[in-house]
Amino acid sequence: MIPPDPALTFTPCRAAGLARWAAFLPEAGRRYAERRNFDGGPGHRANVSALSPWIRHRLVREDEVVAAALARHGDLAAEKFIQEVVWRTYWKGWLEQRPTVWTRYRAAVAAGLDALEREPDLRARWEQATTGHTGLACFDAWARELLDFGYLHNHARLWFASLWIFTLELPWALGADFFLRHLLDGDPASNTLSWRWVGGLQTPGKTYLARADHIARFTAGRFPAVTGLATAAQPLREAPLDPPRPVPAAETLERGAPLGGLITEEDCDPLSLALPADSIRAVAGVTTESARSPLPAGPLPAAFSRGAVDDALARLRAALGCPTVHWPAGVGAAAVIDWRARGRGRADRDGLRAGRPDRRMARGPARPARPRRHHPNRPAPGVGRRPVALGHPGLFSVQGTSAGRPAAAGPRRSPGRRPSAGFTDCKPVPSWRRKSRRSSPGSLEPVSAASAVSPLDRSPFVSE
Ligand SMILES: Cc1cc2nc3c(=O)[nH]c(=O)nc-3n(C[C@H](O)[C@H](O)[C@H](O)COP(=O)(O)OP(=O)(O)OC[C@H]3O[C@@H](n4cnc5c(N)ncnc54)[C@H](O)[C@@H]3O)c2cc1C
Repeated sequence: MIPPDPALTFTPCRAAGLARWAAFLPEAGRRYAERRNFDGGPGHRANVSALSPWIRHRLVREDEVVAAALARHGDLAAEKFIQEVVWRTYWKGWLEQRPTVWTRYRAAVAAGLDALEREPDLRARWEQATTGHTGLACFDAWARELLDFGYLHNHARLWFASLWIFTLELPWALGADFFLRHLLDGDPASNTLSWRWVGGLQTPGKTYLARADHIARFTAGRFPAVTGLATAAQPLREAPLDPPRPVPAAETLERGAPLGGLITEEDCDPLSLALPADSIRAVAGVTTESARSPLPAGPLPAAFSRGAVDDALARLRAALGCPTVHWPAGVGAAAVIDWRARGRGRADRDGLRAGRPDRRMARGPARPARPRRHHPNRPAPGVGRRPVALGHPGLFSVQGTSAGRPAAAGPRRSPGRRPSAGFTDCKPVPSWRRKSRRSSPGSLEPVSAASAVSPLDRSPFVSE
């Protein structure tokens, strides 16, 4: 049913993402709506866009795929594809307003990892699940596919999560952690909230129970007679959540002030911000893969994220002519604060160097580091079990350095930018624009709130 798609490779640059999108665009209309739920397995992805690694890093943006799908297919035929894209946008905004959900998730991962040390049986079952040795053929195939390719079809993610929670009875947060460490598109919002949705936390009381007949039907005969699946799915429970907090106010940029830029894998298309090019003196890039989990991120997503940031830096350098540096993995907020403090008043090349010794800047773009070989479940060196914050979702922080006030301790909000915002009634809305007449000329501020419109009564995933 699903034609072969052997050419699909995930190259971490905007050009490759746009090429994949150009190839898929003719399929993004009615054919997508009809065929998207079928999982043909690796090499058979022609029925879905497989754009998620690029979209997650904002190498390809939601607004541009939505606009192109609308232009090519019209609103009726493109509706399903656009709905799916907007789910990502919605999840980002939902989590941004409920940071406790992330904190709780991180605490649940830490508690789960501690339990693995105390309970040998649990550890053995978790090892089997995360290496593809449970004996459940479909589950093991998806686990290995995730480790080998860094991608799973949406339906496989649903079945996998359901089997993890209700059949294998493993802690849900450890399953989400396994995904976040190995998906090229691993995203704190889409991943955590989707796992919560399967387990019955996100829409309280509503669970997703994988069924053998669905697996047989939608996997093109690969898993025709799965047995041993749970037949009931009791929803997980949690304490009530706090009410959503308002979206934090964004910083404004002072026109003419020298600026330094910081790029992370959350947004690798900073040029879409139409930044004040004259003011940008230098840009640093950093990847935060070590913050995905107390355990090491898989080599594929780590390399993709580093490559994505390199690509963003190269495009910025070409467009703005400013020096750039790709800081080594693990450099955190302290280096940014140091750079900003030392470079205050001159966020230029020297300021950048002062912030972090730069051995690579003169040599042009940093190459993606070679993926490290490691056991998928061994803790990363130097990484403790404490929950750590994942920095700011959508961290592209351009900081004015002429203001003369000390840098805040911790990552700062990006100026006039809310990556989680952007869609209302499925119409793309720019997430920021020049300030209105009331504001000082040239400063920037966001226009849309983080809450995108979403049909909460519907499933974001499949209609089986
Ligand atoms: C348990 C579980 C974990 C998930 N974890 C992630 C994750 O970490 N990162 C992630 O990007 N998606 C996640 N998803 C959502 C979805 O499975 C993937 O976005 C989708 O499979 C990516 O494949 P595609 O690009 O071919 O999607 P397509 O079907 O071609 O959709 C186009 C784009 O829309 C977005 N999208 C599609 N479906 C969803 C959805 N249900 N929720 C949010 N965005 C969606 C993606 O950006 C995707 O690239 C998860 C789903 C489940 C059930």
